[in-house]
Amino acid sequence: MFKKGSFYPLLIPSFLTLITILVAWQWPPITKKIGKIEELEALLLILPFFPYAIFAAGMILGWRFNNGGMVLSSMLLGLVYLGLSASGHGKPSPGNPGLGITELTSLLIPLNIAFFSTLTRRRILTHLGSLSVGLILAQVFASVVLCQKDLPLPSLLGAKGPFPLFSHWGAAWSSSLRDVIAQTNLLDFHQVPTISLLSFLLAMAFLCYRYYKIRDSLSAGFLGILVAAFLGLLPGSPIAVRAIYFSAAGIILLSATVETSFSMAYMDELTGLPGRRSLNETLINLGRRYAIAMIDIDFFKKFNDKYGHKTGDQVLMMIGSKLKDLTGGAKVFRYGGEEFTAVFPGKSAREAYPHLDTLRKIIETTPFTVRGRGRHRGSPEHRGKVKALRQKGLRVTVSIGIANPNSRLSKPEKVLKAADKALYRAKKNGRNRVEW
Ligand code: GH3
Ligand code: MG
Ligand code: MG
Repeated sequence: MFKKGSFYPLLIPSFLTLITILVAWQWPPITKKIGKIEELEALLLILPFFPYAIFAAGMILGWRFNNGGMVLSSMLLGLVYLGLSASGHGKPSPGNPGLGITELTSLLIPLNIAFFSTLTRRRILTHLGSLSVGLILAQVFASVVLCQKDLPLPSLLGAKGPFPLFSHWGAAWSSSLRDVIAQTNLLDFHQVPTISLLSFLLAMAFLCYRYYKIRDSLSAGFLGILVAAFLGLLPGSPIAVRAIYFSAAGIILLSATVETSFSMAYMDELTGLPGRRSLNETLINLGRRYAIAMIDIDFFKKFNDKYGHKTGDQVLMMIGSKLKDLTGGAKVFRYGGEEFTAVFPGKSAREAYPHLDTLRKIIETTPFTVRGRGRHRGSPEHRGKVKALRQKGLRVTVSIGIANPNSRLSKPEKVLKAADKALYRAKKNGRNRVEW
């Protein structure tokens, strides 16, 4: 069910979140270890300002990378952190337990973060962007008003027992879960309103679903941000611990952006394979023994002319997915257009041959089906062609050329050229074949 490497994007956010939980948990002993009181004071003086710097960087980067979700999340978390600091970190005023800012924000933050995770491809200076900024400001305004009015705690936000909305077994289950968490002494959820826990779980489920669908660094990052921000809101946390959690949320946001720009530079969006830049790096780092194969779709121009560019793109995706399963330890790249490159470290052309011939046969025998949204779109004429294609069950073939280094060819670029020549021979000799 899970594809190779699909958990990789979760690695950095999980690692950062776990480290943060550990540091926050061990914070009192850590501060005791700092011998000089001046050093500790200096640290505690600087630490609360960290999150602001990180969120400011997040807003600027998000704006530069056209990532509205990142600008909005940074802005929201920055404002919440500011609110927490300004209100003495949510301590209820003496004599009036009132509506605390931590209660309110712990309810709102998960829902906002879940929403902003859907805006990572939107620009901030658009209608939707300004509306979302308006949404944040309206919530800030409402929170300030509500928290200052010494309002009695609304019953929904005040309820801190087991989930009342659940059935009997659900209530028992959730209260025993709380007990387990409390026993580990790691996190204290006892003061968190039940409704906030519910909103957190809802956002978590939504973000998990998004991650399951998309599997990229940003959707993984948002999961980390949600957890770190929510933990940063636990009532009664020391200022330093809050600063650590909020900084972690910001750092996860920044690292997700860096990862995303990395994959934008290195990965081909259509096929999900690494692109030319990645191939060039692989070629530089090759050892002495390797084989390079060039793979080219046969008569692809005709295919495009006949069935349309969109259907052509679907063929490229299908071939890309078959190439991902290429055996023999091959690294596969989209070279450009309808050409792909496979690099076999430690193998000769002869050893790479059977793997490539198997791939060629798999592609030859895979019936091409038009998938997804494009199915009913386009002009009636285009639809007719696509229908004809499906009825005929048209098959796509590829030609492959392989080469390995020898006394004449020592540089990878030359070997690649030789593979291209072999590919040309495969085309000349009738296509749908492998030559070396
Ligand atoms: P041959 O068997 O000799 O390789 O013939 P060919 O038609 O495949 O070769 P040619 O190089 O003449 O044509 C390549 C075509 O690939 C041209 C272009 O229409 C198509 N193509 C390149 N990139 C893309 C792409 O990203 N999407 C789609 N749909 N088509 C592409
Ligand atoms: Mg070509
Ligand atoms: Mg071609």
